[in-house]
Parts: sequence; structure tokens; C-alpha cells
Amino acid sequence: MIDVLPADAAADPASTIRRFDEGVPTLDVRDLGAARGDGVFETIGVVGGYPQALDAHLSRLASSAALLDLPAPNAAQWRHAISIAAVSLPADRQGGLKVVITRGVDGGVPTGWIVATPAEGDFAERETGIRVVTLDRGYTSDVAERAPWLLAGAKTLSYAVNMAAIREARRRGADDVIFVSSDGYVMEAPTSTVILLFGDRIVTPRTDIGILPGTSQLSVFEFAHSRGLRTEAALLMASELTAADAAWLVSSVRLAAPITSVDGVEVPVDAELTRAMNAALLARQN
Ligand code: PLP
Repeated sequence: MIDVLPADAAADPASTIRRFDEGVPTLDVRDLGAARGDGVFETIGVVGGYPQALDAHLSRLASSAALLDLPAPNAAQWRHAISIAAVSLPADRQGGLKVVITRGVDGGVPTGWIVATPAEGDFAERETGIRVVTLDRGYTSDVAERAPWLLAGAKTLSYAVNMAAIREARRRGADDVIFVSSDGYVMEAPTSTVILLFGDRIVTPRTDIGILPGTSQLSVFEFAHSRGLRTEAALLMASELTAADAAWLVSSVRLAAPITSVDGVEVPVDAELTRAMNAALLARQN
């Protein structure tokens, strides 16, 4: 648990961090993060004790906090806490850190914590791929501008809808979901960003349609540039998904999972590009 400091506090971060072992009760049940999902989070991938894309995650944590009118996070404090949590994971396994800031107990101060978890399994889907279905997100692509109180584009703790969508995908015999706006544009997956390949162009949906800016997507674009591929953030119609030369869902711990089918229609897999993309993502130092 972390005694959350104001952004400009100069206190020694080490004195604000308390370590708890798994299973020890730590959270006040009145916490609005638990009671209402009123808070923000980041999931950071850890490889060999190293927290990946840390600057991008801290920057998105600050943006999410601002969208929820939460105090700005103290970057020095979170960097320190994240580095301690990262080295607590087994160095020979990949893992993840869930970094959380909630509104705290009503009338109180924000609550902060990090949960460090070694990754389970062998990430077979990075090779074997995933089947996805498209599901209606239930709002139009101008949601962020038209209804900012829906917090589209903030990484809030309210993920019940995202998890329900993944259960719906399983009921339909698929592994994951691509949300589509009710006016027909490709948005994002419940916990990942969509990346498509068209010829020598790597394309991702524009974030101004009310989706989360992905940190892995940023790294994939850097990788694409290093391969001489062009990159673009675009408005993509759902019908374009099956016209792609390859497609992936990307996120911090999963990294790049190639999509093998969309709504039962096969999508080509570029195995060599996928391997190189995952190697580049695993090698990230920021
Ligand atoms: N979109 C959503 C809704 C997410 O929850 C996530 C990550 O959890 C992503 C995209 C991918 O973000 P990142 O690459 O930073 O993990």
C-alpha cells in the first residue's frame, strides 16, 4: 500500500510504501475504488525485473487521474514504488504490476497500491493466435466529446463491462472481442489495442473516438518504423478488419497476439512479423 503523496510533495518516497504479503487484509471496505469502481489503474509488464514502458504508463496514469478529477500522481513516488514491486517478481518470469489509485473513503484522501503478479502460462497465444468477435460498444465514435462524463479514454477501475464482453466472446466460441462503435468504427478490445497491417502500413484506430491510448501500440509503432513500415492512426470501418493483411491485439503483459479470425472469417497471420514484434516488445527498456 502507498500513502499517496501530492504531486509536488518532496517527502522520501521510501517512507510512504508498506509491503503486505498476499492474503493479508489491506483495503478499507468503504473505499470508493471497491464500492464504485471510482479510481484509475495501470497494468505494467515486467520482464527480468524491469517495468516496461514506464514513462508512457505514468503519463497515462496522470491523464486518467485528471479525467476523473483525482489529484495528480506524484511521479517520483510511483516510480520508486513500481521499481520495488518489479524486483519482487521472479527475475526469470514475465509478470505484471497493477498500479491503482482510488478516490479513497468518502471525504478522505486517495488510496494507492500495487499488486505484483508473476504471469501464468507460456503466452502460447503470441504464436497460436486468437479468434475475436466484434461487439457493439453501444455508443457513437464522438462519445468522448459528446459525453465526457462517460470517461471514454480513461483507464478507470470500472471494467465490469469489459469483462462481460469477454464472457460473451467465450459464449460465441471466441477468445476476445473487438468493440465497434454504434456508427460502425473499430474501437479497441476490452483490455488491448487493435493493430492492423495493410501492405506496408501499420494502422491503429484513432484515440479521439473514445478509446484508451495504448502504451504497447506506441512501442509497436516504433518497431514498425525500425522495419521501414509506415504507421497511421485512422478511422477504420469494422468491414476493414477482414481485409487486413494481418491483425493483432496488443497490450502490456499479453504483448502481440495475432488475430486468426474475426466473427468466424479467417484473417491472415504474419508469423515472422509477429515474432519480431514480440521480440521487440520484450526487449523494451522504455
Ligand atoms: N485498451 C484497453 C481498454 C485496455 O484496458 C488496455 C490495457 O489494459 C489497452 C487498450 C492496451 O493498453 P497497453 O498497451 O498500455 O497495455
